[in-house]
Amino acid sequence: MPKKIAVIGAGFSGTMVVRQLMDQGFNGTIELFHLGKTIATGPAYSEQNPDLLLNVRSANMSAFPDDKDHFIRFLQEHFPEHVDPSSFCPRYIYGKYLQHLWKETLHRSTKVPITLIVKEGAFVDPPDYSHIVLATGNELPSIPQVISEGVRSSSLFLENPWNSQFVVPDSKDPIFILGNGLTMVDTVLNLRKRGATQQIIALSRHGFQMLSHPNATSVQTDIILPNKTSLLELLSYFNRKRKTESLGHFLNRIDACRPFMAMWWQEFSSAEKHFFLKHLRHRWGTVRHRIPTEIAQQITSEKANGNLHVLAGKLLETELQDGKLLIRYTAEGGDQTIRCSLFINCTGPEISIEQMSNPTIQQFLTNEWILPDEVQQGILIDPKRHIARGKSKVPIYAMGNLCKGTFWESTAIGELRSQAKLIAKDILQH
Ligand SMILES: Cc1cc2nc3c(=O)[nH]c(=O)nc-3n(C[C@H](O)[C@H](O)[C@H](O)COP(=O)(O)OP(=O)(O)OC[C@H]3O[C@@H](n4cnc5c(N)ncnc54)[C@H](O)[C@@H]3O)c2cc1C
Repeated sequence: MPKKIAVIGAGFSGTMVVRQLMDQGFNGTIELFHLGKTIATGPAYSEQNPDLLLNVRSANMSAFPDDKDHFIRFLQEHFPEHVDPSSFCPRYIYGKYLQHLWKETLHRSTKVPITLIVKEGAFVDPPDYSHIVLATGNELPSIPQVISEGVRSSSLFLENPWNSQFVVPDSKDPIFILGNGLTMVDTVLNLRKRGATQQIIALSRHGFQMLSHPNATSVQTDIILPNKTSLLELLSYFNRKRKTESLGHFLNRIDACRPFMAMWWQEFSSAEKHFFLKHLRHRWGTVRHRIPTEIAQQITSEKANGNLHVLAGKLLETELQDGKLLIRYTAEGGDQTIRCSLFINCTGPEISIEQMSNPTIQQFLTNEWILPDEVQQGILIDPKRHIARGKSKVPIYAMGNLCKGTFWESTAIGELRSQAKLIAKDILQH
């Protein structure tokens, strides 16, 4: 029987599964479901603000695992001024790369025995697919419970931090950001680009400082990694190295570990995974999710000028009083209540499938076609084939953020491009 595939989600992951199927000689029908405004770019690469840069060097951003220079060749041809492989290219240019690939994919689909149908809207479940691929990507952050109903339904609350098309408030009151990671950095740059002059207050549990990437000239490739994989041993290895080597060298070491993290993670016991999630995830996130030096400089100068305050603390309460937004939090200096002009939720994409509002995920969960993994960080899958363990008769493949609980590192282009290739290969073989 001819194969008929449903690919749900048309960001990088979904469109690259389509492309891989095509490149690997698939013969049949592919239906690509998409909810976003644009195909291929998703929230990460749709933004047009040229100040937002990739947080990975261009050399590592090819969409194809077996053709590592593909993105560099695109730059050479279309944006020669950005061709330096060690630089951090504007994200909108990467968006153009993905759109270029998608156009190419559409064009090629007319020349091969594939019927490619793009369907706008969320997936609903007609039963006649031979395979389903879940590539739903970045979910909106969950709204913390302390945010009152009144605040969340008001225009002073911004639920989607990746939508920069908001109106900058006409008020001198500070802007409040909950979260202190890469999305907070993007949000500060977006606010300034859009003319916001207000002070910005960013609150997170730990208030860790974002680190910048080491200088390109200090990138090392000869790092020897531990072959022991218990969490305790890894922790003591990293602690030892952190004390004895420069920060740049240490960060190079973290980069070198990246491809091994998925293997280490799978060998951790359940207790080790829970320990990591409770005590180490934020520290790991700080050394792992870094920003280009030029962005770090802007953030440092925002802080030095007193325009950005990054606080370690806890949000206690939010309320609307006479149309004004009041925020109470506890931080280094004790309890504070401040009046703010806008609240932006930058707490990061929701990862627990039980908490996601995505209708497809909820439908699959209700049918028990997918199940949460043991640490509630995505879908329980077979790590070799990426197939969800559940009651579905049709194989359901999961990729990207949905596989965090299985691999921990399952977010960046480097991981997604390999997953797209592997899933396409598996579909062709089964
Ligand atoms: C702001 C940001 C910057 C990043 N920068 C980098 C970087 O520099 N380098 C790097 O390596 N990685 C980066 N990443 C990580 C990763 O590369 C991107 O998140 C990547 O684009 C993820 O692609 P995706 O297709 O998995 O998810 P998404 O891009 O989120 O795409 C998923 C798509 O599925 C759609 N969808 C969801 N549910 C349904 C449904 N039920 N039915 C139909 N459609 C649905 C969504 O609307 C969306 O269009 C970044 C991530 C973010 C958020």
